Amino acid sequence: MQQLAIACEAIAATAKKLLKTGIVADYLKSRTTDEAAVSAIFLSGRVFPAWEETTLQVGGRSLWQIVAELSGRDEAELTAAYRRHGDLGAVAGEVLPERTGQSLTVLEVEQTFRQIAAARGPAAKAAIVRDLISRATPLEAKYIVKIITGDLRIGLKESLVEEAIARAYAATLAEVQLANMLLGDIGQTVRLASEGRLAQAEMRLFHPLGIMLASPIESAEEGLSYFAEAAVEDKYDGIRAQAHVANGEARFFSRTRDEITESFPELPDALAGLSQDAILDGEIVAWDYPAGHARPFSVLQQRLGRKKVSDKMLQETPVAFLVFDVLYANGELVMDRPLWERARILDDLLAAERKVAHHGGSEARSNRAQGKLAFGDQEEIAARVIRAPVFRAASPNELEELFAQAQERGNEGLMIKDLGSAYTPGKRGKSWLKMKRELATLDVVVTAAEYGHGKRVGVLSDYTFAVWDANKDKLLNIGKAYSGLTDAEIAEMTQWFLDHTVEDQGFRRVVEPKIVLEVAFNNMMESDRHESGYALRFPRIVRLRPDKSADEADTIERAREIFEKQSL
Ligand code: AMP
Repeated sequence: MQQLAIACEAIAATAKKLLKTGIVADYLKSRTTDEAAVSAIFLSGRVFPAWEETTLQVGGRSLWQIVAELSGRDEAELTAAYRRHGDLGAVAGEVLPERTGQSLTVLEVEQTFRQIAAARGPAAKAAIVRDLISRATPLEAKYIVKIITGDLRIGLKESLVEEAIARAYAATLAEVQLANMLLGDIGQTVRLASEGRLAQAEMRLFHPLGIMLASPIESAEEGLSYFAEAAVEDKYDGIRAQAHVANGEARFFSRTRDEITESFPELPDALAGLSQDAILDGEIVAWDYPAGHARPFSVLQQRLGRKKVSDKMLQETPVAFLVFDVLYANGELVMDRPLWERARILDDLLAAERKVAHHGGSEARSNRAQGKLAFGDQEEIAARVIRAPVFRAASPNELEELFAQAQERGNEGLMIKDLGSAYTPGKRGKSWLKMKRELATLDVVVTAAEYGHGKRVGVLSDYTFAVWDANKDKLLNIGKAYSGLTDAEIAEMTQWFLDHTVEDQGFRRVVEPKIVLEVAFNNMMESDRHESGYALRFPRIVRLRPDKSADEADTIERAREIFEKQSL
C-alpha cells in the first residue's frame, strides 16, 4: 500500500497526463497481477469493481472521528487542517503518527474493505476502519481515507488508468476501453491485458454501462444546426433507466448506476419475456394509463427511493418505461451502429414482445396521447413498456411545433438526436440535444447549508452551491438559494447534512459535496462575491436531483456559456 501511496503522490505532483499514465503504467508493471488488478480499481477512485453492487457505507463524520481519535488532535486542530487541505485524506496524512513495522499490502486493504462492506451497522464498520487505519503509515492512511470517501483528488480519471493499462501491457487503448466497458471491472481488465487476452472479454449483463448524455440548446435554429438528419422525441420528465434483460430476468439501473428494480416491481415482468437478451435505455415516468401520457415528475417522486411499494401506490401511481435506445441485442453490442439502425433493432425487438405498446414502427404521427390503443386491445392499454415515439423535423418551424405538442402532452420539451450518430456512453456531445422549457438551469452541488429564519429556524434550509471548474477537480461556489423545496424535503436534507457535515461553523455547516440541485435564475452577473466569478440573480431551487451524482453537475464552462448567450 505504501508503494501505491507513493505512486499517487507522484501522480498528484504533475499536471501532465502523459507523465501520470507513465507513473501508473510503471507501478502496475512492478506489481504481481493480483496487486496490479486491485490497485487499478483503487486508482480509478473505486473501492470495488464498477459492476459490483457492494458499498462500504462509511460516513465522513465517522471517518473524521476515527482520525481525531487515532491522532489525539482536538476538533479545532482538525478543522484548521481541513481548511488547509479541503480533504479528509490529506488531513489524515498530516495528523496521524508515524509508525514502524510491516506496511499493509493492497490485497490486505482490499480484503478489509470487503469486511467493512459486510459488517452490519455504523459501529461495527467503524471498528474495522479504525483498526485498518491504526495499522497504516500516515501516507497509506491518506490514500485509504481518500479511497473510502471515493475521491483520490490526484487528477486521475478511470480513462487515464485505461491509458496506463494499454501502455503497461502493450495493448491498444480501444481494446482496453472495450474490455473495461464490457466487464465493468478495471481489475479484471488488467488481468486480461497482462495475459494478452483482452479480446476474450465478454459482456457481463446486469452491470450498468455508462449512459449517453445530451447538450442543451437555446433555440430551435440551434437544434438543427449540428447535423443533417434529426430524429425528435419528447423529453419525458422522469428518471433515466437502463434495463438489462437476460434469461427471463429484467433489472433496472439509474444514471448513477444504482439498481432501482425494487422501486418499480411492475416493470421487470413486462420486459422479462423479451425474446432476446438486451440492454435498453429509456425513461421511467409516472403514467396516466387511461389518457396515455406522462404525469408530472412530482407524481413520480412518490415512487422514488422506496424498497417496498404498496399495492395502493402501484394502483394510484403506476409507472411506464419509455424506451428510446438499445445498447445490446442479439448477443451483440450495438452502440457503434448509427441511431437509425439501433432504432430499427429496437422496433424489431419490441415488436416481438406482445406486452409492449408501439406505434407500428418508430415513425409516429403527432398525437396527444402516446403508448395508447396501438392495437386497441386491453393488454396493450396496460402496457408498461412503451417505445418512445420518434418524429422528424426538417425546419426550426417544425421543431417549434413539435415542442409545443410535447408540452401539451405534459412533457418537458424535446430531445433532438443525430440519426447518424453512435451511442457514446458517458459523453455529452452534440449528437443528442435537449430543448427544455426553462432555458437556463444549472445542476449544482451543495457545499454548505445554513439554518433558516422564521419557521425554518431549526432546519438547514439555505444552501450554498457550486459548479465544477473546467477540469472537474474543484468546486467553485456560484450562489445561494433558500426557496423551492417542500418542508418534507428540507427536513430530509437537514438530517442528511447533519450526518454529512465536514465542518460545523455553528449557524452554518460545510457539508460533503454530494447533493445535486437543479437551480433556475433570472439572469447571471459577473461578480467577485463567489469563487466562480459569477453570481445568479433570483436563484431558486427547481428540485433536488437525487438521480445525479455530484460528478454530473455542471461546470463553469456551462455557466459561462449561459452568461455569454444572455449578454448577446
Ligand atoms: P437533463 O436531465 O436535463 O440533463 O436531460 C437529459 C435527460 O433527459 C436524460 O438523461 C434522460 O433522463 C431524459 N430524457 C427524457 N426523454 C428522453 C429521450 N426521449 N431521450 C433521451 N433522454 C431523455
